Formats: sequence, C-alpha cells, structure tokens
Amino acid sequence: MFSKILIANRGEIACRVIRTARKMGVKTVAVYSDADARSLHVAMADEAVHIGGSPVAESYLRGDVIIAAAKATGAEAIHPGYGFLSENPDFVDQVTAAGLVFIGPSAASIRAMGLKDAAKRLMEKAGVPVVPGYHGEAQEIVILASKAREIGYPVLIKARAGGGGKGMRRVDHPDDFSDALSGARREAKAAFGDDRVLVEKYVDKPRHIEVQVFGDNHGNAVHLFERDCSAQRRHQKVIEEAPAPGMTPELRTAMTDAAVKAAKAIGYSGAGTIEFIVDASDGLKPDRFWFMEMNTRLQVEHPVTEMVTGVDLVEWQLRVAAGEELPVGQDGIGLDGHAFEARLYAEDPAKGFLPAIGTLHHLSFPSESAAGTDIRIETGVRQGDAISPFYDPMIAKVVTHGADRTTALDALADAVSRTEVAGSTTNAAFLAALARDPDFASGDVDTGLIERKQDELTTSAAPGSRAIALAALAATGATTPADSDDPWSGLAGYAHFNPLVRRTALSFGGTEIVAHISARPDGRFDVRPEGGEAFVLAAETTEAGATVAAWPGHVTVFENGRSFDFAISDPFARAAEIGEGTSSMRAPMPGLVKLVRAAKGDKVTKGQAMLVLEAMKMEHTITATHDGVIQEIAAEGAQVTDGTVLVRFEE
Ligand code: ADP
Ligand code: ADP
Ligand code: MG
Repeated sequence: MFSKILIANRGEIACRVIRTARKMGVKTVAVYSDADARSLHVAMADEAVHIGGSPVAESYLRGDVIIAAAKATGAEAIHPGYGFLSENPDFVDQVTAAGLVFIGPSAASIRAMGLKDAAKRLMEKAGVPVVPGYHGEAQEIVILASKAREIGYPVLIKARAGGGGKGMRRVDHPDDFSDALSGARREAKAAFGDDRVLVEKYVDKPRHIEVQVFGDNHGNAVHLFERDCSAQRRHQKVIEEAPAPGMTPELRTAMTDAAVKAAKAIGYSGAGTIEFIVDASDGLKPDRFWFMEMNTRLQVEHPVTEMVTGVDLVEWQLRVAAGEELPVGQDGIGLDGHAFEARLYAEDPAKGFLPAIGTLHHLSFPSESAAGTDIRIETGVRQGDAISPFYDPMIAKVVTHGADRTTALDALADAVSRTEVAGSTTNAAFLAALARDPDFASGDVDTGLIERKQDELTTSAAPGSRAIALAALAATGATTPADSDDPWSGLAGYAHFNPLVRRTALSFGGTEIVAHISARPDGRFDVRPEGGEAFVLAAETTEAGATVAAWPGHVTVFENGRSFDFAISDPFARAAEIGEGTSSMRAPMPGLVKLVRAAKGDKVTKGQAMLVLEAMKMEHTITATHDGVIQEIAAEGAQVTDGTVLVRFEE
C-alpha cells in the first residue's frame, strides 16, 4: 500500500478520500487554490500545497503544478476525485511519466470511454446495446439535421465530451434544431473546450439506471449492482438511490452482465460507472435499456452503493491502484437494504435553480436518524465557509440507509428537513418536497418527474407569526445580559433612549413586514407582528422546533423543517435604491454575458428573454421582470459581477 497520496481535488470528495486514506494508515497531501486556503480539505489533510489562483484553470486543472506538488511532498500516487482532471488521459500519462501512480483507470481506458461518440461505437462492437442515434464524425449542421430527421424527433443533442448535464439540448421540432445546436455547442465549448456533438433519439419517459463496476489489474471485473438516478433536473442528478425501485431479476442480470462486459471490453481497472437509459414506459423489460456513457471515475453518488453493499469504494480504489487484487469476487458482493442520496446545493429553485453563492453563516446537519436508519453527511464546508463562484455550488450530500425504500426515503426527507443553512439560498426545501412527493415515493420515477411537478416542488411557504416574531426580535439584536435587569441594554444603539415600543422592519421575499417589540418587566419581550398573533419571547429563546440565525443584514428562521430568510430593512440602503431608480435588472451572480436578445429602445414584455448569462459553466436565460422599454442593456461578452445592472428600463 502507498504510504502517502495526493488528492487532486477539493470539497467533499477530497474530504471523503482523506477519511478512507487515514483509516488505511495512508498519509494525505491536499492541494488548494487561493479561495480554498482555509477550507476543510486543507485542514483535514496531513499536508497541503498551494497550487495557484482561484479559477480552476489556474489551480485544480494545473496538472503540471499538481504533479510537482506530489513529487515535492513525496506522495506516491494521485487520487483525482471526480471532475477536474479525473477523466483527462493526458494527465494520467503525465502522472505515470513522472513515476507516480494514478488512482484510477489507465489512460487508454479513459480515451476509449472519454468521448461519448467513440464510446458508443466501441460498445456497439462489444455487443452492448447503445442509444439509437448518430455518433459519427460529421459535424456539419446539414448532416446533423438530416440525421435528426432520420432518427425521428424528439432528439437529444449531446456534447461528445459532456458531463454533468452540460452541453445538452432536447429538440422537439426541426425548426428548433439549429438554435439548439448552437446552444449545445456554446455550452460545450465553454465547459469542455470541445464543441463536437452527437445526436440521440430522445427516449420518452426514461429512467436513468447505472451500474457500478470495478476492475483490477489481474483481469477481474465485478459489478456492485445498480443505482437509479432518474430524479433529475436539466439532466443533472438530484436524488439517487440504490437499488433501483421495481428492479426485476431479469433486467438486473441483463444490465449488470452488459456492464461487466463493457468493463472487460476495455480491460478496465478501478471504479467506473456504466450509465444506461431505460425505457420504462411499459414496465422494466430486459430488452429496453441502452448504454449512454461510461464515467471512468468515482461517481458523485457512489455513497449509495457503499451503503447497500458495505464496500468502501475508495479503499478498493487505493488497493487496486497499489496492485492488489479485488478483495472479493462477485459472489462476495451482496445487497442490504436501500439507500438514498440528496445533493444539497447553493441554488435557487424558484429562479430556475440558478446557482447561488454566499457565506454559510449558519450550517447544521442532523446527526441522528430514526431508529433502524443510518445517516451520512458528505460535505467539504463548515459553518463560516463560503460558496464561491469559482466551483461547483454543492454544499453537501445527505445520504440515508434503511431496511427498505420507504424507511430510507422517510429518513432522507427527515434529514434534509433538519439541515439548516443560512447565508445562501439552497435547494433544501425542494429536496424535502421531492423526498415527500407521492409519485417519487411510489417508485414511479422518470427523468421528467421534477419538471412536470416543478411548481409544486418549488412553491415556498410564507412565514407564520411565530417565525416573524422570532426574526424581528433577533433583528433588534436583543440579548439579555445575565448581570443586567434592563432588557434594552443589549440593543445596540437603542440603549440610551429606551423606547417603550420599538418598531422593527424586515422584508421577506421583497415584502415588508413590521413587528412591534416591547420589553416586559420579566426581561422577556412582547413581539407583535402587524396583522398577526403576538408572542412573548426571551432574547435567547429556544422555541420548540425553531432555530434562529442572525447574520449580516439578515435573520434566518428554521421552523419545523422550513427555513425563512428575512432581510433586515436598512433605511439608508433603501434610499440609495430609490435614488437610482427601481426599474433595472441586476446580475444575480458573477458571469459572462453570452448572448443579448434585446436592444435599446425595444418594447419588451414580462418573461421575455433578455440575455443569456453564463455562470458556473451553465447558461442561464435572464427574462424581463416586467413590461417596459429598454433604455440600456449589457453588451455581449461583458464580464459582470454580482449586482451589475444588466438591463435598465425607461422610467
Ligand atoms: P454525470 O457526469 O453522469 O452527471 P455525476 O453526477 O457523478 O455524473 O457528476 C457530475 C459531473 O459534474 C462530474 O463529472 C463532475 O465533473 C462535475 N462535478 C460535480 N460536482 C463537482 C464538484 N464539486 N467539483 C468538481 N466537479 C464537479
Ligand atoms: P452527462 O455526461 O452530462 O452525464 P449523459 O449522456 O449521461 O450525460 O446524460 C445525462 C442525462 O440526460 C441522463 O441521465 C438522462 O436523464 C438524460 N438523457 C441522456 N440521453 C438521453 C436520451 N437519449 N433520451 C432521454 N434522455 C436522455
Ligand atoms: Mg452521465
């Protein structure tokens, strides 16, 4: 076994790998960018090396600097995690040339599977069923469009270098083909530096079922059953589970056989995933699944497999890379119970899941789960850390395990509901709603479920009087010092004129909320939200089922599994806003103006597409917030920061 390895990644996956390495007695070296200098993975590793600036191109993608760091620290092997350099065969060659071991498959395996078109050609030859479509070399629009017609609409245009759902466009009608192709190409170019595409038949109401495979350098290859990742939005996984609901022995045998055949066809070594698309419109049938792609790395959702098989996949990765044989054969791998994983992201479901950024002023995960269930939190951040615009906005993976699907799903809904994040918008409420959705619970999932129920799953509840009262009191900064019987003494700025009733203004979702607070002789406060029920609260209150987190300019109240973020109204900030004019649209996050769809002087209507903002490698269409005439609009190619005015309307 290695005595020291370097982890060429960040965030939760770097922390995950460090944990197993430590368990195995292997020393770890972390690498970090400027933005990550104080991050959790750096704190957890035995050593850490600074590799460059915050943008990934200056740090986590700098293979040369990372290899130099490994040499300098005496690490013998490099674990790439997922993303970044994990599926870059040139990097694998460089690692090997430097006399180090790459903890993953060979460069040849990655080359064989790295591009979806070539992989499909290879799998076709190996006798694995592939998704019908065009995966040839030609890229001319006329050829692709005619192939699309041959395949039959709807079709799916896919970046051959794609990953994470990027560079993909569903096209329902030939008229839209050309626009969709340009969009897919732009996104692919930005994310992968490769704008070549393939065209596939769009499988209707499909399920995404993938098989975990593992090979070693002694000719062994096994599978570790399947995962179902059909709960997706924009082709990105949201909740994953193992095993697949409703899986039949016939389909399982057919799929796992095909997966092992695929791995053997390329002499695969290490952890890999064969992704299949399954047409479940007529039940799960053994002849209705097709190869989509192989991910030649550890997958984000690998924990669900670990929970049901009891295998530590990272441990196997290290063993296989060190030259050992797989610890067990196929017969030694069993299935126990059911597991779920939900991806908790800093993003705003109400705004089309726009990625968000922010400092995690309050962060708390549940530590205990209901009897008979297990809970596992995979995260790379701590309270006080920031979700920066440079990297994937994932905050954590919430993983649960139970004896059966219902138990595990209940545990998931419960765990997500008890997860508290303040400082950034998150998808927590959306995940909880999905985990409690009756269709999802029935196991009748397909990749379109989330889109069909989007409104239901993303409606946000309004805060009740108690949440408002708690927020208002926290907003005054009320604290009751033990050595003082003057309840107002802790109210910064107000101690000297002791008003009898203090008016506090908050805003929730843009609506102003006012509460009146007065001190009581017993040291507590009467808090009366306007038009709502009044409450008697102590300053450092611990109300049943509620947590209050105050952070600069905001108070977040967590109440019975929901969270409410209140902005503390600042009269000065409001004045500035009014002075500037209210009819403008600002960039919700830092990004690049990719495409401008309207011009100065245009009369636009609410909901009309104004421009396309590329942020965090994804394209986001910014639509008009109201009707108006454009006075000014951002220029194509402009790099904007959070809050930059994108569109100004005429008054
Ligand atoms: P798939 O490629 O099938 O969507 P996953 O859902 O496991 O597989 O991973 C999504 C992709 O997004 C990965 O290929 C990885 O490149 C990228 N990715 C996801 N999260 C992160 C992260 N925290 N850091 C870097 N890359 C990430
Ligand atoms: P990525 O590399 O981005 O993970 P995939 O090829 O794995 O790309 O596809 C991502 C998701 O897009 C799949 O999980 C599935 O939901 C959807 N998808 C892919 N191909 C098809 C298809 N031919 N028909 C319908 N949906 C598809
Ligand atoms: Mg995929």
